[in-house]
Amino acid sequence: MSISKIDQAHIWHPLTQHKTSSAPIPIVRAKGALLYAEDGKEYIDGIASWYTAMYGHCHPYIIEQVTAQMQTLDQIVFTGFTHQPATTLAQKVLSILPDNQQKIFFNDNGSTAVEAGIKMALQYHHNKGEKRNTLIAFEDGFHGDTFGAMSVSGLSVYNGPFEDYFLNVQRIPTPKVDNLKKVLHTLQTIIDTHSCAGFVYEPLVQGAAGMQMHDATGLEAILHLCKANDIVTIADEVMTGFGKTGKHFASLHLTTYPDIMCLSKALTAGLVPMSLTTCTQKIYDAFLDDTVSKGFFHAHTYSANPMACAAAIAGIDLLISEDIQHQIKHIKERHTAFAKAIKTHPKVLNARVQGVIFAFELNTKMERYGSLRNQLYTHFMDRGVALRPLGNTIYVLPPYVITDAQLDSIYKAIEDALEVF
Ligand SMILES: *Cc1c(COP(=O)(O)O)cnc(C)c1O
Repeated sequence: MSISKIDQAHIWHPLTQHKTSSAPIPIVRAKGALLYAEDGKEYIDGIASWYTAMYGHCHPYIIEQVTAQMQTLDQIVFTGFTHQPATTLAQKVLSILPDNQQKIFFNDNGSTAVEAGIKMALQYHHNKGEKRNTLIAFEDGFHGDTFGAMSVSGLSVYNGPFEDYFLNVQRIPTPKVDNLKKVLHTLQTIIDTHSCAGFVYEPLVQGAAGMQMHDATGLEAILHLCKANDIVTIADEVMTGFGKTGKHFASLHLTTYPDIMCLSKALTAGLVPMSLTTCTQKIYDAFLDDTVSKGFFHAHTYSANPMACAAAIAGIDLLISEDIQHQIKHIKERHTAFAKAIKTHPKVLNARVQGVIFAFELNTKMERYGSLRNQLYTHFMDRGVALRPLGNTIYVLPPYVITDAQLDSIYKAIEDALEVF
C-alpha cells in the first residue's frame, strides 16, 4: 500500500497542526542531497534535514559501520557497563573539540543535551555550597523543547503556554559591532543583582531565530565576564557543531572556550538520535566526591547506544576527511559569491554567510507561520528545492556533499522568489 493511501489521521506532526499548513509529502527514499517522493518528484535537501544529514543521506560508509556494529552489540545499560564504540567516540570527539573539554556525557537529543548542561551548571554551584538560581541567555535563542531548554530559549512563539513554569532567566542581546558596551553593561547589571549560575548561548549563529549571526569578539568579551564571575558557560552547538561554521565547532572561532558544550544533530550524521554534553575537568571534579548526593543523577535509558556511537564515529571520520573539508570551503565560497550577486537586489536584506550557512531576509513582511510564508515554502517545493523559510528569512544549510548543479538549482529558486514575493 502506498504511503498516500495509509491514513495520516492518527499522526500528530510537529509544527504543522495549524489549519493553514499543507499536507506532509510522503518521502520513500533519500540519497546524498536528494529526497525522493512517492509521486516520483525529487527534492534537493537544502537544509540537510534540519542540519543532521551533513555527509548526505544513506552514506555507504556510515551504513556499513553501523550495520557491523548492530551485528555485534546492539544496546546495553551504560551504568555499570561500558563498550568500545563509546570510548572510541569519546576519544574522537575530544580530538576535534576545544582542548579544554575533557568529559563526555551521553544524551538522546539536542534538548536533553542542553537540559543536562543546565543541570550541571546549577549543581556545580550547589555542590560548592552556593545557591545560584539564575541563568543568563541571549534574546531570541533556541535551545530545545524540554523545560530547562525552553526556559533559556527566547522565542515566545514556541513557549507561550509554559512561561509561568520556567526557570529564572535573564536575557542579554547578542553582541553586534555597535552595541557591545551596552550588552556588557546589561550583563554586569544582571550579575550584580542576581545570583547567576550559568550562561547558555548559541555561539555565532542563532539557528531558529533565523540564522541570526553575531560577532565573535563580542561573544569573547561576554564569556570573559562570565568566567570572571564563575558563571558556567554553556555553548549550545547542537546546530553549529561539526563543520557548519567553517570550523569543526563555532567555539573554535574564539580563544575563550566554554565550560560545557551541547552537541547533537549532525553528531550522528543524520542516522539516529543521540547527543553529547561535554565539559571541562573543573566542572566534572565538582561532582566527584565521597558523598553520593554530589553525583549527577541524570541518566537516559539509551545512553551511549552502540549503534548511535558507531554512526557518530563514522561521521567524524568523514568530517575530518580531505574531501569534506574541501567541500566545506567550496560551499562557503559559492555562498559568498551568491550573497554578493543578490545583495543589491531591493528584496534582499542582510545577506550573510558563516561557513556553509547562507541566509538573508526577504524585504516582504511575513509571519513566521503565516500564509505568505507558506506560499514561499511551496514556491521552493514546486521547484524541487526543500528549504524551510523562517518567516521572511530564507536560509540554506546544505549537506556537504551537495553538487554544484544542485546548489545552482537552489540559488535559481531563490532568484525566482525575489521576483515573485
Ligand atoms: C535543534 C536544536 C536544539 C534541540 O534539539 P532536538 O534534538 O530537536 O531536541 C537545541 N539547540 C539548538 C541550537 C538547536 O538547533
